[in-house]
Amino acid sequence: MTLKESEISLLIIYTGGTIGMVQDPQTGALKPFNIENLYKHIPVLESYPFRIDSVSFDPLVDSSGIDPDFITELASVIEENYESYDGFVVLHGSDTMAYTASFLSFMLENLNKPVILTGAQLPLGVLRSDGRENFINAIEIASAQEDGTPMVPEVAIYFENKLYRGNRTHKANAEDFNAFRSENHPALANIGVHIKYNQNYILKPNFKKIKVHKTLDNNIIVIKLFPGLNKNTFHAMLNTPGLKGVILETYGSGNAPDKEWFVEEITDAVKRGTLIVNITQCEAGAVVAGKYATSLPLYEAGVIPGYDMTTEAAIAKMMYLTGRGYPLEKQKKLMVTSLRGELSVNT
Ligand code: ASP
Repeated sequence: MTLKESEISLLIIYTGGTIGMVQDPQTGALKPFNIENLYKHIPVLESYPFRIDSVSFDPLVDSSGIDPDFITELASVIEENYESYDGFVVLHGSDTMAYTASFLSFMLENLNKPVILTGAQLPLGVLRSDGRENFINAIEIASAQEDGTPMVPEVAIYFENKLYRGNRTHKANAEDFNAFRSENHPALANIGVHIKYNQNYILKPNFKKIKVHKTLDNNIIVIKLFPGLNKNTFHAMLNTPGLKGVILETYGSGNAPDKEWFVEEITDAVKRGTLIVNITQCEAGAVVAGKYATSLPLYEAGVIPGYDMTTEAAIAKMMYLTGRGYPLEKQKKLMVTSLRGELSVNT
């Protein structure tokens, strides 16, 4: 069924972050804006010929404080409202937006509607704010349909003229309006005078019923290799009680020291049933199992290649897979399979 434009409806979910600050007309100070007065703060929204509703988190959060409870709450808001709206715009702090987008992509199985996260580097209440443009374009994208099908039926991040797949994105700049990068996957859309969708790179809807998975297991750790990593700290980290998974951030195309103690620690951890995934510290490119001799011992020990996943996506995927309670062998198999377009193998 093709909806008339006037029948489209969007839900804005305001979670916090810099975007939501406006100037108090009395004091001139910046304070979180009241989403109830959305139209008052951004009058141009009244020009849209469709319904835009909003809900607000209470309390609003700086995204540097988010945790699995926050992400689960956000997934629940989408689940509860999924049938009532054609798309969702999530206003979120930029600091951890790529993490939240990655988590949501895994938690929202069979997502067939747009979930567009956006935010700002400068609050809406500041004259030069990037927030207004980000917000308006996110609304445009979340409401865009062709023949009754959403143009972007996936979790994406809109920031400064680019739409990226959420689980391919990371925050790369703390100051530029152009704060996000998606090095290993092309933009889903480029925004100028026209919004140009790159349809070949956007996930296709599967028209199945949505399933929302809300259990995340955070018994995991990220270990970034650096010259000088010492045996004691490495041993202590890998022997953390209850540890289920390790994201090992290695050098280049997946290389690590081939020192005996290092390989032994890894081998022992794998034998104890720890899921260890190898991803690169580089911004772009993938780990390639066995390209260099220095990566071979990792794979011989049972480490799983994470290919070109971002750290954010690898963390979200690991917490999702361990949270599902799958047997270890299935976790390993799914880790190297693209579930939501998060890696370039098997896509
Ligand atoms: N610290 C803020 C946050 O992530 C920064 C921002 O919104 O851009 O919530």
